[in-house]
Amino acid sequence: MHPADNVAIVANTGGLPSGSVTPDGLTLLERIPQGHKVALGDIARGQEIRRYDVSIGTASHDLPAGSWINEERLTLPPAPGMNRLPIATRAAPLTRKPRPATFLGYRNPDGSVGTRNLLGITSTVQCVSGILAYAVARIRAELLPKYPNVDGVLAHDHTYGCGVAIDSQDAEIPIRTLRNIAANPNFGGALMAVSLGCEKLQPSRLFPERDPLDLVRFQDERNSGFDAIVTDIMARAENHLQRLNQRERQPTRVSELVVGMQCGGSDAFSGVTANPALGVASDMIVASGGTTLFSEVTEVRDGIEQLTARAISSDVARDLIDWLAWYDLYLARGGVDRSANTTPGNRAGGLSNIREKAMGSIIKSGSAPIAGVVAPGARAERRGLLFAATPASDFTCGTLQLAAGATVHVFTTGRGTPYSLEAMPTLKISTRSDLARRWHDLIDIDAGPVAEGNVSLEEMGQIIFDQILATASGQRTWAERHGIHNSLALFNPAPVT
Ligand code: CA
Repeated sequence: MHPADNVAIVANTGGLPSGSVTPDGLTLLERIPQGHKVALGDIARGQEIRRYDVSIGTASHDLPAGSWINEERLTLPPAPGMNRLPIATRAAPLTRKPRPATFLGYRNPDGSVGTRNLLGITSTVQCVSGILAYAVARIRAELLPKYPNVDGVLAHDHTYGCGVAIDSQDAEIPIRTLRNIAANPNFGGALMAVSLGCEKLQPSRLFPERDPLDLVRFQDERNSGFDAIVTDIMARAENHLQRLNQRERQPTRVSELVVGMQCGGSDAFSGVTANPALGVASDMIVASGGTTLFSEVTEVRDGIEQLTARAISSDVARDLIDWLAWYDLYLARGGVDRSANTTPGNRAGGLSNIREKAMGSIIKSGSAPIAGVVAPGARAERRGLLFAATPASDFTCGTLQLAAGATVHVFTTGRGTPYSLEAMPTLKISTRSDLARRWHDLIDIDAGPVAEGNVSLEEMGQIIFDQILATASGQRTWAERHGIHNSLALFNPAPVT
């Protein structure tokens, strides 16, 4: 990955057997699986192991040239400190030219632009979700066919709303997440809520600025039974469908696009193919005035000095440090640290520890300066490359990026996950061609040819950029074609009662 590295990874499908000789004359001392690291020279015990020109740990044994380096032969360094970090030292604007490209989006009254035309129904509490799901199924079957310009209807299902310490300071995170999801541009400004009546998260608390709110409350006197409640939900939904059906796609500049980026089921190729190529696409969007979000606090913690250096101002660097420090404390309350992140699949895929995983994860943010930080559940309020401070958990990160206002989701994966959300199209990019071949009807873009040397990162970045625009204009992802999606997962760091 860098001339100063003392390791490289085996790109060959299936790995390489002991005794294999690389083109520059290195002989492998043992079998090394695909994606795993090999020592390029003799590495003494205690010596740094460098990948991406960064120390990813120290050798726990003497490792002669040609040795396999896995998580047992590498000691994880402590998380970098939060003091004396470089501040805005590498925040030069992109030199890349803006792209003349446009996409076909749905413009909203507030100026935002959606990529889908959806009716989203908010619930204030989990108690209502059974009846709401029944009503949504009937809306889909009986009403939606009459409104062909509407792409779908969905309930923002969640398990929050009652039985929670709602006055805890951290409760603001799940509450504003629900509020901002309802305001996502893909819902066209429609706001319809379903409430039980006695719950802690009262509609007036969820939407303090919306009075009157278009609301169905189950415990109201006039709701005499199941049929009456379902009829009420359907009638209100039809009003929204009539309005949404009038909307039409119109040519829109890339500056109106908000793209959420994350990875899941990562392997050692994530940081070689899909993530750096996504970084190129992100730079293209940012250079064109658009917005991209990167996230996953535990996967950037080890690269904090890269982030603060790329912050556009000392205020943005301070916000970065504050949220990473907040997350350190959140993890410490559970008796763990950022190293709790890696999975058995990450390690089997060649990622030895969280530091190595972090370096391959951050690279998806490209090279633009970091223009701002979005607190968990908050809505992005500026353009450019933004750090949305979210957990790395795929569903939680996606839910918070949706709240931040993302209208397209781009998801890179090495091990393979079918994850997608219903509220925003989710483009999946594989890090390896092997995965794209097996999951030919789940993976939207194969970044594997980069590892085989057939396509440059710049070319792959252009492919991803073009696909993002096509998807934003209405081209359906594999997950949309199959009609599959995952549930929302609210981030609630506050106590449950
Ligand atoms: Ca993730």
